[in-house]
Amino acid sequence: MNTTPGTRWDVIVVGAGAGGMSTAIFAARNGARVLVIDAAPEEGGALHLATGQLSAAGTRLQRSKGIEDTPESHLADIVRISKDTADRELVWLAVSNAAATIDWLLDDLAMPVLPEHPVRGQNHEHYSQDRYYWGPDLGRSILAAVRAPFRELIDSGAVTARFGTEVVGLVQDPEAQGGRVTGVVTADGEEHHGTNVVLATGGYNADPALFEKMNGVPAYADASYRFARGAGHRLGVDAGGYTRNHDLYLCSFGSVLEHDDFPAPVLCRPVHWPEMRMPWEIYVNVEGRRFVAEDEPSVDVREHALLRQTDLRRYIVFDGRMLREAPPMIPGWSADDVRAHAGRHPMFHVADDLRTLAASAGIDPDNLVATVEEYNANRDGEDPLGRRFRPLPLAEAPFYAIRVQGMSITSTAGLAVDAGLRVVRPDGTAVPGLYALGELLGSGAFMGNSFCGGMLATPAMTFGRLLGTGILSW
Ligand SMILES: Cc1cc2nc3c(=O)[nH]c(=O)nc-3n(C[C@H](O)[C@H](O)[C@H](O)COP(=O)(O)OP(=O)(O)OC[C@H]3O[C@@H](n4cnc5c(N)ncnc54)[C@H](O)[C@@H]3O)c2cc1C
Repeated sequence: MNTTPGTRWDVIVVGAGAGGMSTAIFAARNGARVLVIDAAPEEGGALHLATGQLSAAGTRLQRSKGIEDTPESHLADIVRISKDTADRELVWLAVSNAAATIDWLLDDLAMPVLPEHPVRGQNHEHYSQDRYYWGPDLGRSILAAVRAPFRELIDSGAVTARFGTEVVGLVQDPEAQGGRVTGVVTADGEEHHGTNVVLATGGYNADPALFEKMNGVPAYADASYRFARGAGHRLGVDAGGYTRNHDLYLCSFGSVLEHDDFPAPVLCRPVHWPEMRMPWEIYVNVEGRRFVAEDEPSVDVREHALLRQTDLRRYIVFDGRMLREAPPMIPGWSADDVRAHAGRHPMFHVADDLRTLAASAGIDPDNLVATVEEYNANRDGEDPLGRRFRPLPLAEAPFYAIRVQGMSITSTAGLAVDAGLRVVRPDGTAVPGLYALGELLGSGAFMGNSFCGGMLATPAMTFGRLLGTGILSW
């Protein structure tokens, strides 16, 4: 049954996050009859939670600040940071059109960004140029900006939206044009028919089983949008498409989780960036060994080192004097807050000697004792891992260990598309009438096995704009 008898939509957009809203806005302005369907009660998707860091080269804001930058340089940075593991074709499509997206957000939609922006980087490996922007309200700054025209189009009738409605299937005509997709089926059994269906359903991080199947590691953290359940991946594969970049998973350098029952919420995020706070502590793995110089300047090197450790887990180990004298390690936490958690929270351990500490935390005791002895003995000489900043030995009881979990809040693997954002089959042919964009394409496509700042939210909106305006072939 068609809920809108007689209506054949030009574009049906599944998902109203950054990518879906942008698609709908530009398609409707281009004269298309647009239906947007979202499982959530309101639009926004991951923007409700995201840090909202954006990146683009050649923007008006950059020019107004005298910053000369090019998409070629942006691409070269992504190739450098990802060691050429990203999809150059999709990255180029994203970065060569990203400036217009930022100009739209900042100028047309008056999205505020922090006064010192653009900057070169934060959290992730730095770019070679200042091309990194975000708003004071993080992802919600983007949401507020994009939601305004989206809502106007709904109010004016140019876009029809169904919220709280889950798309569970695609209507596909096996006889027509190689299995053309002609509509969608919603959970209530209704069908909606259209010429083009755009999947913009985001990632799969809220489905732990799918996360593990896609990435080969457990979904340790519960920190993603709850409707990011991989619907588009399933719909696209059922229609003949396939997923790719499963081997490009990378974890962050980690957060402290609330508990061991995965996926668990994030309790706090100790600072590990030497540019923000030099590490006074040491980091060890489950085996009780250090595995990277704690003051290694490249976050990418630190993340890849953690990726090789058992259970993607590290422990921050320190002593009473470090806790007293070092600057705070956890934003917003005092030394007393750490003491209050130690021995009471499952991730915070304390003991009067290293062996007892190791037993409590699940670290190999012999190795931990040997590691600390070696660290203390070498402090004035050459560190085996090349660490330079070593202000104090670990010598004064009590000793502490905080367990930190490497994790990912975004989805690495994604649905395969061609440069026209058409969902493609393993033989490279397109599934007619079916498009995909946003995080559904996977971070691996845009960042390879690295994290490149702003390279999910910006491409999501950029591809929505391109599809909506018909720059890419419908
Ligand atoms: C904590 C956090 C921080 C982040 N920080 C950054 C950052 O700083 N920079 C950056 O570039 N990226 C960041 N990201 C990622 C970025 O926010 C997302 O990749 C991007 O917003 C995804 O947009 P999207 O439109 O592809 O998907 P989403 O925003 O996930 O939207 C998908 C929409 O589809 C809907 N949906 C899902 N399944 C169905 C279904 N079956 N039927 C109907 N609707 C469905 C969902 O309800 C949702 O509204 C972050 C993500 C998180 C979680």
